Amino acid sequence: MATNITWHPGLTRKERNEFRKQKGFTIWFTGLSASGKSTIATALEQHLLHLGLAAYRLDGDNVRFGLNKDLGFSEKDRNENIRRIGEVAKLFADSSTIAITSFISPYKADRQSARDLHAASQSAEDEAIPFIEVYVQIAVEDAEKRDPKGLYKKARAGVIPEFTGISAPYDEPENPEILIKSVETPVEQAVAQITKYLQDKGLINV
Ligand code: ADP
Repeated sequence: MATNITWHPGLTRKERNEFRKQKGFTIWFTGLSASGKSTIATALEQHLLHLGLAAYRLDGDNVRFGLNKDLGFSEKDRNENIRRIGEVAKLFADSSTIAITSFISPYKADRQSARDLHAASQSAEDEAIPFIEVYVQIAVEDAEKRDPKGLYKKARAGVIPEFTGISAPYDEPENPEILIKSVETPVEQAVAQITKYLQDKGLINV
């Protein structure tokens, strides 16, 4: 029989954070395709890992091909895509990990739902999980000049229907916690800007 087992029924989030010596929260990137969300999110994840923090990035590759492979790009499917991502990010954050999401998330209402979800506590002792919206801002013309995956070209040719910024809407965030002006902000500077915000808010202590 195993000995020395500590049994603590139902740890609170605060207790979990104390055991893990780190706060869990969600960094939610939003912006047009090719604005630089994935590039900055990947660099940020690496930076946080180097600082010794647990961080994990949810992006199109690990979500669209797995959890959400049944979803397309209609408004309804985009809503459901973001709803599930919000739920999963919240679980990661609840486990004292820094969840980083990099999805266009074009609809304001969907981003608000993800935010509300993080604010809703499971129990009376639990505080809200911090939700940091990072808007990677770029003009459509500039994103189109980058076009690393040739998606804008295909959208203009009508090969991809419902493409955000061309044939589907993007609701600009009005009050994001962090605004990154993509064209004039090098990736390292964007990472430094986000890291400073996290330090200033006491979300990370390194
Ligand atoms: P998204 O995830 O928003 O679709 P990506 O990160 O996949 O965007 O692509 C952005 C492209 O723009 C990449 O090829 C990247 O190298 C390039 N890029 C140029 N300048 C920047 C910058 N300041 N920040 C982020 N990406 C940049």
